[in-house]
Amino acid sequence: MNATNASRVMIVTGGSRGIGAATVVLAANQGYDVCFSYAGNTKRAKDVVAAAHGAGGRVLAVQADMSTDAGVRKLFDACDAEFGAPDALVNNAGTTGPIRKVADIDADTLRAVFELNVTGYFLAAREAIRRMSTARGGKGGAIVNVSSRAAPLGGGGEWVHYAASKGATDTFTIGLAREVGAEGIRVNAVRPGLIDTELHAAAGAPDRLTRLMSGVPMGRAGSAEEVAETILWLAGPQSSYVSGALVDVSGAR
Ligand code: NAP
Repeated sequence: MNATNASRVMIVTGGSRGIGAATVVLAANQGYDVCFSYAGNTKRAKDVVAAAHGAGGRVLAVQADMSTDAGVRKLFDACDAEFGAPDALVNNAGTTGPIRKVADIDADTLRAVFELNVTGYFLAAREAIRRMSTARGGKGGAIVNVSSRAAPLGGGGEWVHYAASKGATDTFTIGLAREVGAEGIRVNAVRPGLIDTELHAAAGAPDRLTRLMSGVPMGRAGSAEEVAETILWLAGPQSSYVSGALVDVSGAR
């Protein structure tokens, strides 16, 4: 356990698999009490709780839909009751929607992607600010938004809808960092490249990593754990003067 983070509280959205799960386990390992949400995969959420307990942390899993106001409030209320106000929020729960060209896009896909990736991040940040802001009696904190290298690359031919939602995440990160900088809250984003998680298969492209690997200058996909390391750094006191930054974790992609 890292004494620096003793009794600090972290909320992670979408912590049952992939980057979120790696973040929960690493945070527990560093001494955080962690409250995380998941959509519906209770078995995987329980696996993460067990792994995090093994790392020595106190962890609470909450089934809650991060694309809704009620779901976001449910997560924060559960954290308040179990651990108290969060010191860090990791906005991670996200979806690509299906691979689809703009000429074939439908309103339901756009709604689902933007409601989770953009509205959900705003709502969770709102709840975090209400608890963290020194202007509201809080003790400050850090927000880390999981964006994507798709934001500057654009996702053409695959998922411009997803890339555009991550572009919104980047702008949200910069604007919010400036808005709450004087209230003791730092806001940053990580922009992962090709990361080995189940997201690609969920989008209907299980071979996507292999197919795109040659375009990664480092010649390999990244792991969820490698992204989690950067998230933990941005969430913790080691990055105390970093705010409004978009940090690429992409093997130079
Ligand atoms: P993943 O493996 O597909 O995991 C998604 C997680 O989000 C799961 O824990 C899932 O819960 C949860 N989730 C989904 N919808 C939710 C909802 N409505 N409410 C609450 N939780 C929900 O994804 P990942 O690859 O780790 O991606 C995590 C983040 O990184 C996303 O924002 C993604 O856009 C970003 N990213 C990923 C990559 C990549 O290559 N993997 C690259 C760039 C950026 P269940 O288990 O219950 O379904």
